[in-house]
Formats: sequence, structure tokens, C-alpha cells
Amino acid sequence: MVNWLKGVVVENRQWSTGLFSLRIDVPLGDFRAGQFVRVALDIDGEQVARPYSLVNAPHEDFFEIYFNIVPEGPLSSRLAALKAGDIVQVAEKVSGFLTINEVPEVDHLWMMATGTGVGPFLSSLKTEEPWQRFKKIVLGYSVRLAEELSYTETISRLLEEHPEQMEFVAFVTREVMEGAFNSRITTTIESGELEKRVGISLDPATSHVMMCGNSDMIQSVSGLLESRGMRRHRRREPGHITTEKYH
Ligand SMILES: Cc1cc2nc3c(=O)[nH]c(=O)nc-3n(C[C@H](O)[C@H](O)[C@H](O)COP(=O)(O)OP(=O)(O)OC[C@H]3O[C@@H](n4cnc5c(N)ncnc54)[C@H](O)[C@@H]3O)c2cc1C
Repeated sequence: MVNWLKGVVVENRQWSTGLFSLRIDVPLGDFRAGQFVRVALDIDGEQVARPYSLVNAPHEDFFEIYFNIVPEGPLSSRLAALKAGDIVQVAEKVSGFLTINEVPEVDHLWMMATGTGVGPFLSSLKTEEPWQRFKKIVLGYSVRLAEELSYTETISRLLEEHPEQMEFVAFVTREVMEGAFNSRITTTIESGELEKRVGISLDPATSHVMMCGNSDMIQSVSGLLESRGMRRHRRREPGHITTEKYH
């Protein structure tokens, strides 16, 4: 039985065409950075609920979700239309294993996101734990257009705070942006350009790769990593790849 909490929208921020974040005031309990909640609205008399990662870190005094409008989907466009003061339902239970405590002891953590999949990684990177545990953290963020790169202020702040430890790599696939790869994550792994750029290798002895977002990216990158001797991480059988597929 799901216990639904009443959430009040505090802010609806539009980042670019079709990309939004909602700050919600809701009495949620403890959670781990990287986890997700179920958010729901009543639509035509029926409750429609979907999972959304929390972008905020546990120590921050707000709850935030970041999402894109899926034109054919029932919930995302309605969430995007909410205004401050509107009510959303938020499930009390927070779930998910895309969390730092699930990552085995390694030197290098790679966080590879497509689109809104960057959210749970930002939640984790805003906490102390990853910076205490890993020598190097690579955040890879792939979008189609440069305007879709959101949370750039947060990313810049993290880079300033952790200049030696953090590498940020943007992938903008449909246009050229200075400093970003104009190709997919897979292409830059196959060509060796990604490892060259960040100065470390995707080696199973030293690396763990977390991926979030589009299942095509996750599947194709996983295939490349598996050919290098990496395997899916399970608690009972530790591996090198942790994923969360949004769609
Ligand atoms: C564990 C988990 C966490 C998630 N966290 C987030 C999040 O933080 N931010 C976020 O934007 N989405 C997230 N999603 C996806 C989200 O739950 C919804 O599916 C999405 O917002 C669309 O909702 P909808 O009701 O409008 O359409 P749906 O009925 O859910 O989906 C309609 C169709 O669109 C596809 N689809 C779903 N999401 C996307 C997308 N983002 N882009 C393109 N196609 C999509 C679905 O596969 C389906 O074919 C998450 C999904 C899971 C499983």
C-alpha cells in the first residue's frame, strides 16, 4: 500500500524547450543521494504516477525533480504545467540503487548520463561521500542540443570545489559546441577519445561506471564495457556497471 504525501509546488523552472524542474515542499523522510520517488497527479479521475530521481542532496532543504516533456505521455506535460502553489502527490517511499554506497571500492568513478539522467548524479556529487572515496570522478552528460545542458552552474561549482578530482565531459550530438564532444558517448569510448580527454582509462581494475537515462545508451555503452572485461554490478557478485533506465 503506497502512502501518498501532499506536496506543494514551490517553483517550476523551465530550463529550455521541454525541460523543467519542480521544487516541491513535501514531508519526505530520509533518502540516499541518487534515489527516486514516485510523483502522481489525478488525471481524468485516475491517479497517474511515475518515478523521478531527486536532484537535491539529502542535506538540502528542498526536494527537486528534473524532467522532460514526453509529448505522448500523460504525466510529464501536466507536471510541466504546474505552478507555485499547485498540489502534487509524492509517495512516501524513496527507492533506488544508483547510490554511491552501492559502488565497490575503486579509484575511478564514471557517471554517464543522457538528458535528465544527470539528476541523480548531481544529487550524489553534492554530498561529501564520493569526494572522500574516489581519486577521480568523471561526469559525462550527453544531450542533443547545447541548450539542453542544464544545471551548468551546479556543475561549474562542483568543478571549482574539486579541481583535481572532477572531470566534466559534455556530449552535444546534434550541433557543435566548443569544448564538448560532437558525438555519442559510445563513439568516444570506441575511439579512445574519452579516456584521452580525462586522462584515465576505463579499466575494470580501477573503474566503476554508473549510467542513467536512455536505455539505448546504457545498452550500447554496457556492450563496449563488457568487451573490456567489465560486468554488471550485483551486491552478491560485485561488478563494474550500475545502471538506471528511464525509458
Ligand atoms: C527509476 C526511474 C526514474 C526516473 N526518473 C526520471 C527523471 O528523473 N526525470 C525524467 O525526465 N524521467 C524520469 N523517468 C521517466 C519518468 O518516470 C516518466 O516515464 C517520464 O517523465 C514520462 O512520463 P509520462 O507519463 O509523460 O509518459 P510515460 O507514459 O511514462 O511514457 C510514454 C513513453 O515515453 C517514453 N519515455 C519515458 N520517459 C522518457 C523520456 N525522459 N524521454 C523520452 N521518452 C521517454 C516511455 O518509454 C514511453 O514509451 C524515470 C523512470 C524510471 C523508471
